[in-house]
Amino acid sequence: MEIFTIPLGFDNAYLIRERQGALLIDAGVPGQAKTFRKALDEAGVLPTEVKLIVITHGHWDHIGSARDIKEMTGAPLAMHGAERSWLETGKPPLPPGVTAWGKIFRVILLAATPLIRIVPAEVDIVLGEGYFSLVPYGIPGRVIHTPGHSPGSVSVLLDNGDAFVGDLAMNRFPLGIKPGLPIFADDLGLVRRSWGLLLDRGARTIYPAHGKPFAADILGGASS
Ligand SMILES: [Zn+2]
Ligand SMILES: [Zn+2]
Repeated sequence: MEIFTIPLGFDNAYLIRERQGALLIDAGVPGQAKTFRKALDEAGVLPTEVKLIVITHGHWDHIGSARDIKEMTGAPLAMHGAERSWLETGKPPLPPGVTAWGKIFRVILLAATPLIRIVPAEVDIVLGEGYFSLVPYGIPGRVIHTPGHSPGSVSVLLDNGDAFVGDLAMNRFPLGIKPGLPIFADDLGLVRRSWGLLLDRGARTIYPAHGKPFAADILGGASS
């Protein structure tokens, strides 16, 4: 299995390639169709080899190019039911800041919001509670509902312990200086509970959407 980081400026998307298929995680900020295409080319993955697109959650910087990459690959788009309308209307909310910097940064983002245009896309697979197996898509792993940053946040947990968590954890300025809590969250208690769930289920390496991967046991320390 190979994992490719797709840098999109503000955040990362991820491409996972297995023998039987490829999976895209997140759709980044708007206007990134070319970046996705280039990343697929560099990975040697044909757009039609992408079997599924999982959106970790419905904030603007994770759904921005969803319509583009769906059209490019023809792959179904999976997202939690609590947030599907954010993508299907192209109108995601902005979560509350939970740190001083998060509160300031939110004001900056709010000012920019009228300039951000999300092209709506239809969600094909509506995720719910519990697990969604990725085995039928050729990927040894599953999608788990991990709320806290937002109500419908999900994580992709591979059988080898790699966990793609969206914004359930952050590791990059301006959204987090060291690995740990997101600066925006609906419910920090739920964030910690979801971290615990991932650790219990065998998460070993955390791949955040904002920043570089880090060892999952950092979450165990930070949550206590
Ligand atoms: Zn977010
Ligand atoms: Zn984000």
